[in-house]
Amino acid sequence: MPRQRQTRQRIAIENVFDHEPRPLGPAEVLDLAQEEVPKLGIATVYRALNDMVEEKLLRVVELPGQPARYEKSGLHHHHHFHCLQCDKVFDLEGCLLKSNLNLPEGFKVTGHDITLSGSCPACAPDSDES
Ligand SMILES: [Zn+2]
Ligand SMILES: [Zn+2]
Repeated sequence: MPRQRQTRQRIAIENVFDHEPRPLGPAEVLDLAQEEVPKLGIATVYRALNDMVEEKLLRVVELPGQPARYEKSGLHHHHHFHCLQCDKVFDLEGCLLKSNLNLPEGFKVTGHDITLSGSCPACAPDSDES
């Protein structure tokens, strides 16, 4: 499929995901992309996000009870941390799940999905060492 000519809006939206490597909701994408294209509207963001999912550049991140967020596709296996105070979602490197689960005989795991929740450093400055 021939790649369409990139619009400035679309480039700005793609750049957001390079500069902010964590799952982003449409409103966050709009905020960040507007630094580059101030006239950008939320409808354009929604359209670009849908296109980018279809083009497999992004994948949808669904957290229970949360609106869809988006992250770049093809990332290594990782988990997410949801800050309940600022509502941001962060990537956690690596896997938190040990493989020594005691599964009943006959069960075979092919994947898992773990989201941690709590507060991020910006929202919980009680461990401030400076
Ligand atoms: Zn936070
Ligand atoms: Zn894992």
